Amino acid sequence: MSKVVHSEDEWRRLLTPEQYAVLREKGTERAFTGKYHDSHEKGVYACAACGQELFASDTKYESGSGWPSFYQAIDRDRVATEVDRSHGMTRVEALCSNCDSHLGHVFPDGPQPTGLRFCMNSASLELKPANKPDKK
Ligand code: FE
Repeated sequence: MSKVVHSEDEWRRLLTPEQYAVLREKGTERAFTGKYHDSHEKGVYACAACGQELFASDTKYESGSGWPSFYQAIDRDRVATEVDRSHGMTRVEALCSNCDSHLGHVFPDGPQPTGLRFCMNSASLELKPANKPDKK
């Protein structure tokens, strides 16, 4: 995938205000308010900004945090990380490697086999449901 680059004006046009606030301004949706924190649907979670596939639903787990949580990305190269010292905390920020949009944070308290918790914002993700049989 070639790297996606847009000006902030273009991102504003392409994204909803809620998506823009999270993806481009590094906002955080309130816990338990996003559309995916309690989702158990099968499929692939893609970046809501550029469409890069980030997480498979079978790596999603119940973290109790109120945000969709995964223990592993589809490929480690798809989620970039940076140290985030905002809000008086030192955290690891997770970004889409394809468009540099903010996804959430990564914490070292996840389940095995990785021990990681990718704590994502629902607004940063778009679920592509697994193919369902046609209704005929
Ligand atoms: Fe992206």
